Amino acid sequence: MTTVSRRVFILKAVAGAAAFSSLQGVRAQSNRLDPNDSYAKSMGFVVDAKGIDPKAHRNFRKFKTGQECSKCQLWDGKDNDAYAACSFFGDQHTPRAGWCKNFKQVKS
Ligand code: SF4
Repeated sequence: MTTVSRRVFILKAVAGAAAFSSLQGVRAQSNRLDPNDSYAKSMGFVVDAKGIDPKAHRNFRKFKTGQECSKCQLWDGKDNDAYAACSFFGDQHTPRAGWCKNFKQVKS
């Protein structure tokens, strides 16, 4: 392999790796549960539970302060994950601070 073709090969490999990484990021984002999805809405899903007023809508009646996806049995996240799969929504990703009326408190 000549120096020029080696250089071209390396540049193509780097470009391919960057494209793959970018694609993974897009794929992860596209797997996020859309709060405007009709089923998500019917379950009272919100991306940030801090803004929930239990009196504002019947979907929020079961909400208790401090509840969020990261404390739900159906959330598959680790300590520092901002988003993780929720088995209730077919493994679509929900945010750490999210909530829906199917919340199931993690047992401590
Ligand atoms: S089921 Fe649990 S993890 Fe899934 S959206 Fe509702 S509160 Fe969040």
